[in-house]
Amino acid sequence: SDEVVLVGRSNVGKSTLMREITGHSVATGQKPGVTRKPNHYDWASDDFVVTDLPGFGFMSGVEDDVRERIKTDVVRYLEDNADDIMVGVLVLDGKAAVDIIDRHTSDDEIPHVVELFYLLQDLDIQPVVAVNKMDKVDDRDERLNDVADRLGLHPPWKQWQDTIAPIAAKHGRTSAFDDAVRTHLDAEKRDDLK
Ligand code: GDP
Repeated sequence: SDEVVLVGRSNVGKSTLMREITGHSVATGQKPGVTRKPNHYDWASDDFVVTDLPGFGFMSGVEDDVRERIKTDVVRYLEDNADDIMVGVLVLDGKAAVDIIDRHTSDDEIPHVVELFYLLQDLDIQPVVAVNKMDKVDDRDERLNDVADRLGLHPPWKQWQDTIAPIAAKHGRTSAFDDAVRTHLDAEKRDDLK
């Protein structure tokens, strides 16, 4: 089946976005670090399955080895299912992402979110970056340019609107996300008909 996956650190608003696009209530605020199976939901009336993968990254009270296992599970799921996945949604917290990326960037370290973005591209999965919590961001264009830059997409971000989608899931503002994902799903369908 045709699949859209959601990946991202814990607490970026993945469950909130999931609920918004599928209409299903999914467990939010769940215990951090609980390794759970991917959740599959249908996307509204469409033929697409949306898969919510476990959140990763720092979670207080979670052992390093559990965190590592979650990361490995996410990467393995993407690798194993790449052929069926049409769009990989990387959900970021627009308020925090750039700082977190910069803090974890050094000569011998690539931040995990950046790594995931590259992995999606390597696996030929179309990435869409849902930059969430934009209601908390004042310098909108500047912030989105920084996000683009950190992912190796040359600013201005506006030339990447099929990839970078500023949203505020909690407030139901997800149209940029819907547009970006649909663009790719429609393109894929057209290719299938050829
Ligand atoms: P998850 O761990 O990625 O699934 O994150 P959740 O969906 O549980 O959300 C984490 C926190 O961020 C919750 O308190 C949400 O209410 C909040 N949140 C989610 N989306 C938004 C948003 O668009 N704006 C703001 N300000 N908060 C949000």
